[in-house]
Order: sequence, then structure tokens, then C-alpha cells
Amino acid sequence: MTTAAIIVAAGRGTRAGGDVPKQWQLLAGRPVLAHTIDAFRGHVDRIVLVIHPDDRPRAAGFDLHMVSGGATRAESVRNALTALEGTGVTRVLIHDGARPLVPVPVIAEVLKALDQSVGAAPALPVTDALWRGGAQVEGTANRDGLWRAQTPQGFRFDAILAAHRAHPGHAADDVEVARWAGHSVAIVPGDEDNLKLTFAADFARAEAILKGRGMDIRLGNGFDVHAFTEGDGCWLCGVKVPHGRALLGHSDADVGMHALTDAIYGALAEGDIGVHFPPSDPQWKGAASHIFLRHAMDRVAARGYRLANCDVTLICERPKVGPHQAAMRAALAGIMGVDASRISVKATTSERLGFTGREEGIAALATCALVRA
Ligand code: MG
Repeated sequence: MTTAAIIVAAGRGTRAGGDVPKQWQLLAGRPVLAHTIDAFRGHVDRIVLVIHPDDRPRAAGFDLHMVSGGATRAESVRNALTALEGTGVTRVLIHDGARPLVPVPVIAEVLKALDQSVGAAPALPVTDALWRGGAQVEGTANRDGLWRAQTPQGFRFDAILAAHRAHPGHAADDVEVARWAGHSVAIVPGDEDNLKLTFAADFARAEAILKGRGMDIRLGNGFDVHAFTEGDGCWLCGVKVPHGRALLGHSDADVGMHALTDAIYGALAEGDIGVHFPPSDPQWKGAASHIFLRHAMDRVAARGYRLANCDVTLICERPKVGPHQAAMRAALAGIMGVDASRISVKATTSERLGFTGREEGIAALATCALVRA
């Protein structure tokens, strides 16, 4: 089963104030859409972002499949569904770009319900009394059986694609399109935090909700080993340390930088160096390790995080690391674009035990912490 999320963000709505469409306005220092995209990462196999062609420069940093929106929301969704046709996607979640705080359980409930139903969508029961009227109350309405609809609205892919292609237009949402085509749509529990940002006051409420969720901290660890070979020094954490031997590896074999890079990828749950720079690919043969580390830090920024701190431990009998620690921290700081006070490099021996004790190679451990930018 392959699941895609379509995030619909082509609207021009500026009721929240300012000249910038609301999905591009800042929420807690980042565009609303960056929050929305992050909410789906890790919960679906692929994400398609539907944007207005004018917004392409704003979206350049997202590194996602992008589709241009149409004249109506339905046309935008149809464009994204068409882009996914033939890709093996079996389920799709269609979500408003302006709902950045969709909680993970809401996404999970929609997906679970799709096991039983062609469509499923979150909603909250109406609890306030309902009135009819203008300046004055002219009557009341029965709220029994009424719901406030939210997104993501989930569907089996083939069913919603066919329904959208056949629908005459002007549907309120994708649930209406599915029901028009005769499909049942299950209601799953929505969440008050899953608000749609429309007015300036909604942004203030969303910021308060984000604060209440507390710090978003991600930890990662990395480990690497390289064997000694003939040479006149070892590259360790960006510094060539004079030694009677070198480290063996198809790049500069900077074991400390490799462990640190893997720790950062680990914190993002984005694999390791081998995934991003396959050793089988000749273009990375002999590539300098700082390219890997810089890429990992670029991913940190792209995902909306920053490095809080990192700590590297080199395990070897020789060469002695102590005299080079300051230079190593400075070298890493330069590559990573962070202050050296956030970087620790230290060393230990293994008391002459094991492969490091026999001076067959050097091992390195690294940990890092990322926090929301
Ligand atoms: Mg390595």
C-alpha cells in the first residue's frame, strides 16, 4: 500500500492580512506550509504540493514534488491526482495547506478507516447552538447530526481520481466529490488544534498551540570505523593530524566527520551517508567528507531545525588528539555554519584492548541534538 498526501496551497487568500497568501505567512518563524508539510513527513510515502505558479520561488527550499494549481480548488486537486496516476499510489490524503497543526492521531485515524471505507475524513460535532439571521436572530437550527469538516480527507486513489474526473464542478470539498460518485465516507475524530488559518487571530491561536506542544527536540547518534594504511597523517574532524599512518577509505576517510554526519542524518531519520552518497556511485569516489557534512546540515535547515549541539568522541591510542581539539572544533564550525561552542570533540583510548588498542584503526562516536529553528 502506497500513500500520498496532496497539500493544496494554491489559494491567494489574504484575509489574514498582508500581501502574502496566508499559507506563506510566518507562523512561529516559518511559513505556514513548512509546518503543514512537516506534519505529513514520515506518515505518508510521498507528498505532492499544489501551489500557484507565482509561488514557485517561495517553494524552492521544500524539495518536494510540486504541481501547479488550477482556477478552482477542485481543479488543483485534479492536477495533483493526475500527477500521481500510474505511480503505484493506492491511497491519498488531501489536505488544506492552511491547516498546519494537524495532529498525528488525526492522520492515523483517517488512514486506519481507509482499510474499511473508500473515503474517510475527520470532523468535530457541532456543540454550539445554531442560529439563523442577519443583525438579529431570526430562528434556531437543530445541530443534531451536524459536523464541522476538517482535512486530511482520505480516499482510495483510483476511486477519487475517477470521481474528480467525472464531477461537474463546484464541490465544497473532496468528500462531496466522493459522495457524488456514490462512495461512502467514514467520519473519524477531528481535533480542535487542526484549525484552518484564515484570519489574523487564527495565527495567534496557532502560535499558542505550538508553544503548548513544547520543544521539538531530535537526537541522533553515529558510529564509524576506518582502518589504518600507509601514509603520513590522518584526517580527523577536518584537520590533517600528522601521524606515521593514514586512514583507509575511498574518500579522505575522516572517521570523526563521518560519525557526526551520520548522527545528523539519524536525528532527521533520513538514513546515513551511504544513502545520500552511495559508495557505488563513481561521482562520490574520493569526495571530501565536508561535502557530506554540509549536505546533512542543509537537510537540517530544509526540515526547519537547527543544531543545538554535537559531541564527537574519537577512540584511538594514537595519534594524540588533544593538541588538535580546538582546530577540529573550528574546522567543523566552519563547515557546519554554527558557533564552535556548540561543537565538542574529545578522545579516549580503549586501554590497548581490541582493534583500536592494537592500533589497527580509529573508531568514532557522535551524538547531536536538533531543535526547531
Ligand atoms: Mg566512514
